[in-house]
Amino acid sequence: MKKFVLFLFIILSVSLVTSPISAEEAYYYTDKVEHIFTHCLIAYPGLAFDRNNDMRSHYARDCITYTEFSSMLSLLEENDYCLVDINDAFEIKDGKAVKKKIRVPKGKKPLIMSFDDVVYDHKKAGKGMVDKIGIDSNGELCAITYREGKEFLSYNNEFVPILENFVKEHPWFSLNGAKGTINLTGYDGILGYRTQGKNKVNREEELEKAKRVVEKLKNNGWTFASHSYGHYHMKEISDEQFEEELRLWRDEVESLVGQTSVYVYPYGEWVIAENGKISKKHELLKEYGFKLFCGVGMKQFFSYLPYSGDLEKSLFMDRKVIDGFALQERQTDLAPLFDASLVIDKHTRQLV
Ligand SMILES: [Zn+2]
Repeated sequence: MKKFVLFLFIILSVSLVTSPISAEEAYYYTDKVEHIFTHCLIAYPGLAFDRNNDMRSHYARDCITYTEFSSMLSLLEENDYCLVDINDAFEIKDGKAVKKKIRVPKGKKPLIMSFDDVVYDHKKAGKGMVDKIGIDSNGELCAITYREGKEFLSYNNEFVPILENFVKEHPWFSLNGAKGTINLTGYDGILGYRTQGKNKVNREEELEKAKRVVEKLKNNGWTFASHSYGHYHMKEISDEQFEEELRLWRDEVESLVGQTSVYVYPYGEWVIAENGKISKKHELLKEYGFKLFCGVGMKQFFSYLPYSGDLEKSLFMDRKVIDGFALQERQTDLAPLFDASLVIDKHTRQLV
């Protein structure tokens, strides 16, 4: 019997490796979809965790290093996750977003990955992150850091080039070339380019550069979502301020990245219903074309909110945060995805 099982195993393994499986056999439907997110990576840990760096505790808590990100990708791949496009997780029926089952190769689990606050704002320059996403002379995506006025290109210390290369080496990690969703604000530009309306110095030049990078990212399977314009607490600003935020995002960011149906709440803070009805802010979000709303939470769920009452429901997806705090303190919650104890770099974080 054992011999027969072994024989069967060998035959199956060989056939999996040698004969391509037809799409019909290889794909099946699933309705379980995980969504994880992180921020721009710590590209220079020595600098980021330096005791004199005023961003040190923020980086330690809210970000992960480039080595931690790479380790996480390897474990996710080993655990049979594969990246899917967030826009394939829902469809529009009668003008409303509804869940859609995702087709993935047999044995694979769909995973949405997104990246918040991809600004490379002024206050972070020279403090441990790269300075922008760029395109090298071969037309490939890279990260750019400035040091003493010189430009340094890198490929292994920021999520865009790391994921680009990882998918090249592990094509099964990505379904139909999907990469990640980049969640953009606009107050200090996008992707390291000062595209904000307030830039009166070299805005036109920056807009042109940003457009080239956006186009390359889109061609390579990246998508974009709104993360508000000014990254305010939704509950703390007035309806009028909120509307102005939406207008600014449409004028200065959507004009660069194109329309998106996905809205990612800053701080994972949302106001959908208020005083027994749909809030003015949520009505505005819908008016501006947003249909899928994303929060932050370890108990990942994909559902319709508000839960109770007869109010009109909106499609909502929670996202698990991958940051320094979660790698250290939320290992049990992250266990279904990967073993965070194998990812966290305690040595670099000076925790050992
Ligand atoms: Zn944010």
